[in-house]
Amino acid sequence: MAESWGHGTVFGVMPLSDGRVYCYAAASAAPGTRAGDELAELAGLFGTWHEPIPALVATATPQDVLRHDVAELAAPLPSLHRGRAVLLGDAAHPMTPNLGQGACQALEDAAVISRLATGTQPDEVAGLLNSYTAARLPRTTDVVRWSRRAATMTTWASPPAVTIRNTLIRLTGKLAPGAALRSLTPIYSWQPPAEGRPTNDSHAP
Ligand SMILES: Cc1cc2nc3c(=O)[nH]c(=O)nc-3n(C[C@H](O)[C@H](O)[C@H](O)COP(=O)(O)OP(=O)(O)OC[C@H]3O[C@@H](n4cnc5c(N)ncnc54)[C@H](O)[C@@H]3O)c2cc1C
Repeated sequence: MAESWGHGTVFGVMPLSDGRVYCYAAASAAPGTRAGDELAELAGLFGTWHEPIPALVATATPQDVLRHDVAELAAPLPSLHRGRAVLLGDAAHPMTPNLGQGACQALEDAAVISRLATGTQPDEVAGLLNSYTAARLPRTTDVVRWSRRAATMTTWASPPAVTIRNTLIRLTGKLAPGAALRSLTPIYSWQPPAEGRPTNDSHAP
């Protein structure tokens, strides 16, 4: 898997086990903007990047391309439940896709609520949902924030900002190899709570 950053642009390449290649690309645009010919738009934006990006774009057909605006909920909800109604996944905490965490957080939500629900009696649902919000809201708020931070760096378009960003990333890779990966440990080291016990184990990276 590889991701390349340009001036306010991103292109990611992920080979799949069946030989196909999943690609994603991002560029700043006004909400709702559509090109009409999205493949031509992609070729215009990424056709001169390093290989294999131009070759992958050239291989795509128009029906391979899905275009969507990226949306996030910048300010967290005050609670993930109200009464006996509860939100999980993107309904609760939509985030930018830059850390690849949207579905992961939905799975964590599901793991926590199913663990909390084990053995719960109908009259204990209100307490269960309080525990769910207490366990999940701080964690998902952190991940949404970290994801936005990662997204912001990819939206920088001015040449000086891009040069500084690229230099810092290059230097970090040389002087502290693995540091970027280690900074993600709070995201990837999450463990489901022991049965019936809520947890919030996020720590800012
Ligand atoms: C480009 C991109 C890359 C991403 N990469 C990653 C990644 O690498 N890793 C990761 O973890 N996440 C990633 N995500 C995020 C991930 O796709 C979402 O966070 C995840 O799909 C959210 O799951 P969900 O079940 O909460 O919501 P959804 O997947 O949106 O599912 C909600 C479902 O409810 C249905 N629905 C809506 N309204 C109704 C209704 N009234 N009645 C019945 N059904 C209804 C919808 O049709 C939909 O099928 C990425 C997102 C994008 C856009």
